[in-house]
Amino acid sequence: MSADTTTATTTEDDLLARVVAPEGTGEEIFEPATGDLLGRAPVHTTDDLERLVAAATEAQAGWAALGHGERSARLNRIADRLDAVAEPLARLLAREQGKPLNGPNARFEVGACSSWLRATAALELQEEVVVDDGQQVSVLTYRPIGLVAAVGPWNWPLMITVWQVAPSLRMGNAVIVKPSEKTPLSVLAMLSIMAEELPEGVLGALSGGREVGASLVAHPAVRKVMFTGSTAAGRKIVEASGANLARLTLELGGNDAGIVLPDADPKAIAQDVFWGAFINTGQTCAALKRLYVHESIHDELVEALAEVARAMPMGRSLDEDSVLGPVQNSMQFDVVSGLVEDAKQRGGTIVTGGEPLTDLGPLFYPVTLVTGLHDGDRLVDEEQFGPALPIVKYSDVDEAVASANRLDVGLGASVWSSDPARAQEVADRVEAGSVWINSHGGIHPMVPFGGVKGSGYGLEFGVEGLKALGVPKVVTRRSAE
Ligand code: NAD
Repeated sequence: MSADTTTATTTEDDLLARVVAPEGTGEEIFEPATGDLLGRAPVHTTDDLERLVAAATEAQAGWAALGHGERSARLNRIADRLDAVAEPLARLLAREQGKPLNGPNARFEVGACSSWLRATAALELQEEVVVDDGQQVSVLTYRPIGLVAAVGPWNWPLMITVWQVAPSLRMGNAVIVKPSEKTPLSVLAMLSIMAEELPEGVLGALSGGREVGASLVAHPAVRKVMFTGSTAAGRKIVEASGANLARLTLELGGNDAGIVLPDADPKAIAQDVFWGAFINTGQTCAALKRLYVHESIHDELVEALAEVARAMPMGRSLDEDSVLGPVQNSMQFDVVSGLVEDAKQRGGTIVTGGEPLTDLGPLFYPVTLVTGLHDGDRLVDEEQFGPALPIVKYSDVDEAVASANRLDVGLGASVWSSDPARAQEVADRVEAGSVWINSHGGIHPMVPFGGVKGSGYGLEFGVEGLKALGVPKVVTRRSAE
């Protein structure tokens, strides 16, 4: 453990200087909002991986031996350290990821990191007496797994890293993080601060592309993989885990449906529906990605949503007025604009947006509401992961439930209604890991979160999430002994 190397005057450039690759090496990282070069990210090799694995393996037993109390204390200290650099870290995140500082964006994300660390530190993991029947007593406990590989995406890069790392550390594991190659610098900067509160080797960072990620998850020393990203990459990780039998938590892609029942109040729900869909400019795993609205209130809700959309400022990441930003990268920009073009060709009506905002920069795409589409149209069936929302009219609730369930994904879903019993009845029939009533996408450190079908398996958060970072162990004794 080294000393606190940040000060009250630490800037985002100081954070960047900690992690950028030496001159002439690494991969260039550009700011999505401006196209400016942010810095060069290191590209690590298999030698670096072996070095990190050796250090982690050596450090893990000592870390585990510290016990839950001391490990929780370290998580709280890390949270304090992140709070102390919250503003420069948020600015670095905004510049690299593209999300604005304000709204549910960069400052919000950095704040969520420290609150998640504290919540994970405060979790109580009790031993469970599973049988005590006069003949035998069987007690279930959870031990550390060993080495965890944490591989993450570019949309909420800091927060998702903390979701993976905090419970791993709390359970006494060592962790090697492989951040997305699209947003490595802010994650590496955060990890460098976190590592200063931990024994050397317990928290490692491996930077590079998917090949680097693939060699990490397949490493024989890795006992658990925490993966958040696309379903396609998730399948490859399942295959790789055949060799090392690593346990897996897979948080994969989604195409969350929202079902608006005929008794919902369009004006009252419009703002929450909007943020359910467009949080982080739509680049959120459990965002509302297809909205099914009863025909009796369809037009009224579309108008109310359009009004909200027109009032939300989109702009550059460091502009204090922005609450919506650019799409993070050109690959995702092409997905979003391609799906909207396809929707136009299939007869969809563009209510707002529909053309790139080239005046703002090459990666800005406006909030795009599209009506007149049906199941089977690409914008409905495929994950857009960006600022476009198909709004599909339905006449029969059973039909809307069937539509929600027809795709091979099931991360989140929502039901919107003024009648709690009716909403609950519909929620019970939707196939998704999380179903929200009259909101969409809200998460809580005590509430388990995870997908079904192609959205993956395993749970994060709360005591269930903690258990997923341990190995179960049962000790049975005779009752008389
Ligand atoms: P991605 O799968 O392309 O990449 C994610 C990470 O996996 C990156 O770090 C990448 O380098 C790495 N990777 C890719 N192939 C790999 C392999 N074979 N082995 C090991 N590592 C590999 O995903 P992305 O484009 O960064 O993220 C967007 C996707 O993530 C969307 O589908 C979104 O829905 C999903 N997502 C899901 C959640 C969730 O909690 N379920 C959260 C955020 C994002």
